[in-house]
Amino acid sequence: MKRVAVFCIPAHGHTNPMLPVVRELVSRGDDVRFYSFDEFREKIEKTGAAFVSCDTYLPSLTAQQEANLKKVSTTEMTIQDIRITLAMNDFLQKEFTSFLPDVVFTDSVCFWGKLNAWKYHVPMVVSTSTFAFNQLTSQYMKSSPAEIAGLIFGLPKVSRELEKLKPYGYQYKSLFSLIQSDNETDSVVYTSKKFQPYVEIFSDHYLFAGPSVFSKVLPDKHHPRPLVYISLGTVINDRPDFYTKCIEAFRNEEVDVIISCGKTLDIASLGTLPENFKVLPSVDQLEVLSRADVFITHCGMNSVSESLYMATPMVLYPQTNEQAAVARRVREIGAGTDLRDDSADGIRKAVRTILDAPSFAEAASQCSDDFRSCPGTAGAADFIESAPHRSSEEDLLKKLNRMNTAGQILYNLAVILIALFLFRQVSPRYLWIYIVLAVLLSFPFKNLLQNAFYKKLAKSKQKTPIPS
Ligand code: UDP
Repeated sequence: MKRVAVFCIPAHGHTNPMLPVVRELVSRGDDVRFYSFDEFREKIEKTGAAFVSCDTYLPSLTAQQEANLKKVSTTEMTIQDIRITLAMNDFLQKEFTSFLPDVVFTDSVCFWGKLNAWKYHVPMVVSTSTFAFNQLTSQYMKSSPAEIAGLIFGLPKVSRELEKLKPYGYQYKSLFSLIQSDNETDSVVYTSKKFQPYVEIFSDHYLFAGPSVFSKVLPDKHHPRPLVYISLGTVINDRPDFYTKCIEAFRNEEVDVIISCGKTLDIASLGTLPENFKVLPSVDQLEVLSRADVFITHCGMNSVSESLYMATPMVLYPQTNEQAAVARRVREIGAGTDLRDDSADGIRKAVRTILDAPSFAEAASQCSDDFRSCPGTAGAADFIESAPHRSSEEDLLKKLNRMNTAGQILYNLAVILIALFLFRQVSPRYLWIYIVLAVLLSFPFKNLLQNAFYKKLAKSKQKTPIPS
């Protein structure tokens, strides 16, 4: 029997995949305390774990801060993460010294879970609700210039907040060590090795468990006419404009439609619904997906995993860059198509594309088989109970970083040598243009180089015999 302390940020998308794993731990007789927030009490208590309410430690937010969080601003989320950690310091000190957990199971961006596991030297397993995340996957996510600018301008503010952690004995290498995955931290990822981008770079400290779901239902697509399911998830779902266009798109079509519109929207504001429509604040998504023929989704990692688990191809409508990365992966495996034009006509055409070409459903079905052959929640529970893990493998991420540094040094040297040569040949104006160009080109060059190095390392890993 293990004592397990579980931590998660207040978000359904992060909490949901932890729940089946927690229920598995409880069913094995482990003593599990889940530190969370009242909004999640009911579903946590259903797992049998002891729910510990942390609502009193949530800071009150200004309207601006709330708006930033709604927009999923990384800077704001990081700042609030640090504030909650500080507010919970005394409480968690008492908990760690009285409950004496054998292992901490914490969400990957839940700073108070990670920082306290490090502070009290308790083995930690990180729960990663999106792809395993390092510099390669972050490159895959392709942040927009606005997002990059937001991060750069937010950095001084975040650094000031981070400084406040030190007097409380919280140790961390850097901000990135708090949000990115390294190859030494035991981590559970709720996807398969096949679906994870850049999978070769991750060490065996990662368990690719496959989607973490309660449902034992199998896909069943036999019904008189196609079923279209529409959801934009649980965070950015207040989109009456979009739902109205969906209603317009399918009101005269031979399809049935279910929309899960979230709890903030007044459904009456959508007007009289056509007979082939059901609009609900929330549905049993897995059950609906087991029957759906197409899912119009915002591409949250959980929604996409659940869709593929239930062999449902998708129309991809991502709202954030993280979701765009998930959408890209779905496109790469051939199980979905982008919603480029979100007019009623565009929505209808995208759904028709999926329904008319069997290849999308076939790709989703293959992925469903792959997901169902993963270690699952039982494997995740074994992994948590037996943490910390050892790895005998060479750390390819560190090797990649060494190669990147060498490449960068060579690039900088070449730039300096050429600049010295030009110094004598051209006017200062052209020299400045050259320097600015060299700096701008260094970013795509770095990415190209990193990808080339990754391919080399991945090839060598595939050739290495797996130790018996
Ligand atoms: N969900 C649900 N019922 C609904 C809509 C969503 O149970 O009507 C669940 C869904 O099954 C998934 C989660 O909410 O587990 C949404 O997570 P995701 O990562 O897809 O998106 P987020 O809400 O974090 O943007």
